[in-house]
Amino acid sequence: MEDNYRQQGLRRKLIEEIKSKGIDDQKVLNAIDEVPRHLFMDKAFLEFAYSDKAFPIEAGQTISQPYTVAFQTHLLDVYKGAKVLEVGTGSGYQAAVLEKLGAWVFSIERHKVLYEKTRKLLNKLGYSVNCFYGDGFKGLPPFAPFDRILITCGAPEIPHELLNQLKTGGIMVVPVGAGDVQQMTTILKKGDKDYEIHQSGKFRFVPMLQEKV
Ligand code: SAH
Repeated sequence: MEDNYRQQGLRRKLIEEIKSKGIDDQKVLNAIDEVPRHLFMDKAFLEFAYSDKAFPIEAGQTISQPYTVAFQTHLLDVYKGAKVLEVGTGSGYQAAVLEKLGAWVFSIERHKVLYEKTRKLLNKLGYSVNCFYGDGFKGLPPFAPFDRILITCGAPEIPHELLNQLKTGGIMVVPVGAGDVQQMTTILKKGDKDYEIHQSGKFRFVPMLQEKV
């Protein structure tokens, strides 16, 4: 699958655009530079792969806006070897960015078509993301606890079962809000029932829904 000079050039421009919007985390910007976003997009939108926008993918879902991916990834404070749970595999783009940062990624998707398609794609592109078909509200008990948990869909409230699957000292990033708009929320788990919570602005995500489809 091709990643040509033109696409690489467009990616550099995208990085500049994300920087101009306030992201200065060089590790995150480098990871975004290393992932060919066009390979994760629906063919109909290929030519827009490097515009800073969300686009439709299968099953009525979206590939997140690159700025949002950068913003959430920065908040997550990923490090080499961190065991990360992502809820909402979608196109696989965010998972690929996490892997480029050295994370050991576990990702759950509730749409079977997306799970199957994306698992194959990530594999073909050489990523070793562990993909699961399931309900993200339940997390992945057999693989818990996680150092980091990233939710890439809008959760009606902080998913409590996932807090149980977060290590002490771990961080969860989750857009919280039942309507169209969510508050980006970062939770630091300081102890068993001791959390520090920060909010950092409004975003729009597809909803986090229960039950597999
Ligand atoms: N990280 C993705 C974003 C996809 S949009 C990317 O980079 O492309 C969010 C995804 O979350 C959708 O694919 C949606 O189907 C999925 N989702 C929603 N609720 C879920 C749940 N309870 N468990 C797992 N996935 C869920």
